Amino acid sequence: MPNLSRTRWWDRQLEFEYPDCRLPYLDREKVQVQRGRMVFDMVYCADCGAPKALAPVEATTFAFFVCNECVAKKGPPAGCVEVEGPKVE
Ligand SMILES: [Zn+2]
Repeated sequence: MPNLSRTRWWDRQLEFEYPDCRLPYLDREKVQVQRGRMVFDMVYCADCGAPKALAPVEATTFAFFVCNECVAKKGPPAGCVEVEGPKVE
């Protein structure tokens, strides 16, 4: 994917050359999940597209995610570090 950050075509949803794995901004509200007083955006696997993670709405400006099954099959994406995240029940 080309680096568009220095051009007028820069899209915030392509931060760090990876796509944001949440729905486009105006559609996110339809699939938000509430746990207690916290509201989370659904995050979809960049490889298989399954909704498998949650990102807190107020603390997240960008989310790129690949699920454990896809990482087990193909390995982690280049330049990414594996971290434990909240799980969808
Ligand atoms: Zn996956």
